[in-house]
Amino acid sequence: MARPAAIDVELRDPTPGRSAAGDIEPTTPASPVSSQPPSRREVEEGLAYLHARVGATAARVLESASFVYALIELVVERGLISIEEIDARKKQVAPRLLKRFESQDEGVAIQHSAHDKYEAQQEVQIDCASRLPLCKAACCKMVFPLSRQDVKEQVIHWQLGRPYVIAKGEDGYCHHLERERLRCTVHGARPLPCRVYDCRNDRRVWLDFERRVINPKIADPAWPHNLSAEERNAQGAR
Ligand code: SF4
Ligand code: SF4
Repeated sequence: MARPAAIDVELRDPTPGRSAAGDIEPTTPASPVSSQPPSRREVEEGLAYLHARVGATAARVLESASFVYALIELVVERGLISIEEIDARKKQVAPRLLKRFESQDEGVAIQHSAHDKYEAQQEVQIDCASRLPLCKAACCKMVFPLSRQDVKEQVIHWQLGRPYVIAKGEDGYCHHLERERLRCTVHGARPLPCRVYDCRNDRRVWLDFERRVINPKIADPAWPHNLSAEERNAQGAR
């Protein structure tokens, strides 16, 4: 019997747009930052993560596929529904499943943006240099996945234990941030979110951008993980 095509679900960009101290002049040209090679422990963590995900996903897919195909065969055999009707409904269900998949933070996180980051236009110029004493480059503490373009370039580091989320230091800042002056060391190659983020209406950062009133929670080294779910999802948050 004819079977409906497999549901095509992929994880899209869960973290659209953010920029960063990206407007600040880089201290070095865009090039891979020098760093220690990953430790054995990091590589093991990365492999363990991948194997666990692959194993869990395969088991889930097999179980689901068996159930679905058994059900389809039964309903079609009994003339209750046609393959065409199933295909049409599948197109409605797929986005729902995708949403649930993203909310559970499953799988590999990668931007599926079709945009070339080098062609991205930043709509607003933010006076980052004068605001750094207040915002402490908060945008460089945000968590977001890289794009395939970033991964291929091999300039921007990602977390081996959580592919392909941008690499962080123990202080929560991006691996590529020069800590003393809070400058991006890979400015020319910075990811798309760093290029287009607009912090003006992001209340996680500014309570009042025009009056330069910073969110006091920025002072907590744990920021943005000290924010409530409501605050994280507030209007303007990325
Ligand atoms: S939080 Fe805003 S003002 Fe501060 S560095 Fe980032 S983009 Fe610039
Ligand atoms: S690559 Fe890192 S340091 Fe550079 S702007 Fe983006 S988050 Fe900040």
